[in-house]
Amino acid sequence: MTQRGRRTVRDLRRGNRSALLRHLYFEGPLSRQELAGHTGLSSGSVSNVVGDLIGDGVVEEAGSVESDGGRPRVLLQVARRNGYLIGVDVGETRVRVALFDLALTELATADHPLSDSGHDVGQVVSLVLKGLTAVVREAGIDQAAVVGVGVGVPGIVEQGRDGPVVHGQTMGWDAVPLGALLRDGTSMPLHVDNGAKTLGQAEMWFGAGRGARNAVIALLGSGVGACVVADGKPYRGATSSAGEWGHTTLRVGGRRCRCGARGCLEAYVGAEALVERWGGAPEGASEEAAIAALLRAADEDDASARALLDETAEYLGAGISDLVNLFNPELIVLSGWTGLMIGPRLLPAVREATAAYSLRHPWDRASVELGRLGPDAVTVGAATLPLARFLDAGGAGAHGRDRVAGTTDFEPAS
Ligand SMILES: [Zn+2]
Repeated sequence: MTQRGRRTVRDLRRGNRSALLRHLYFEGPLSRQELAGHTGLSSGSVSNVVGDLIGDGVVEEAGSVESDGGRPRVLLQVARRNGYLIGVDVGETRVRVALFDLALTELATADHPLSDSGHDVGQVVSLVLKGLTAVVREAGIDQAAVVGVGVGVPGIVEQGRDGPVVHGQTMGWDAVPLGALLRDGTSMPLHVDNGAKTLGQAEMWFGAGRGARNAVIALLGSGVGACVVADGKPYRGATSSAGEWGHTTLRVGGRRCRCGARGCLEAYVGAEALVERWGGAPEGASEEAAIAALLRAADEDDASARALLDETAEYLGAGISDLVNLFNPELIVLSGWTGLMIGPRLLPAVREATAAYSLRHPWDRASVELGRLGPDAVTVGAATLPLARFLDAGGAGAHGRDRVAGTTDFEPAS
């Protein structure tokens, strides 16, 4: 057989493994018959590939169901403890590392606050590496069983020749070779992407975005970002910076933003901006405690807190209307820890403002919802980076080089 012929057969085999594994992962447990129905593969092919997957320990039996008159059908599922995933959230105020099994059940976490809002690259790298060691030890697993580590960071992530490079203008990170720096300290396979994009992947796969093809996942934390999903895929732009919604202009000549420009959306609705604009938070309170205090004050009829939140709802609505008019999404998901804290209170007013600033036709077909994966969704999202590689590889050869950003597909069952 020629070289080309061998490659084709191997590719086909890997494609079949990957297709079956994805269906089992997102829709399982399923029987062999159901798998054939879902994938269009012949029952013979399904039996062969499933036999291989079981032999490799990637898939396991999960009981059986009665079938019409015939023999009971054996159900199959992905073996959740056949490998482990680690997700890292490099936030602006902390580094959170979480270890999951393949079903994304959290087994161990390490949480470290950052002393200087993430500016010191050395400190961030050392906390990530410390966290990796800590979660592997806490979970009591062999490091070799870790399929991969996904890292979500603020800023723009480009795939450089030596791995992922981060341009984090608001943190003063100028072309930081984060991939290379982390690789010096760990041998586990690494994947790095923008935190809003990893959060977007998590919400699209498991949360509020499931089933949508055109959506924007908005991340409100200390700063503001977004993940634009167009026709089932993340929209990245020429250099992966698409989705920097926080730095779109809300007010010409307005408040100074951390990026250096004036009047950015982030300078009004990010947690750091909210706390500064309010000025009523207890001395030395964390951003999270300050936002909680702001909401409490509004509940207690504090006029300045109420006015600030009303204004914030209108600013957010105006910002979301830009997304509606530019991208025509069917869904906008408000997520991130700040979004989830203020969202339940502000959502009706945000929807009203979005309606007022959007063109009627696209808004009639769109909705604004809250994220469903909680404030720690960035770590889950980061863990989906190695998970995507694992599923693409059909559960084998997952221990590889850095995944190239821009190839993630949000259609879990494709
Ligand atoms: Zn800005």
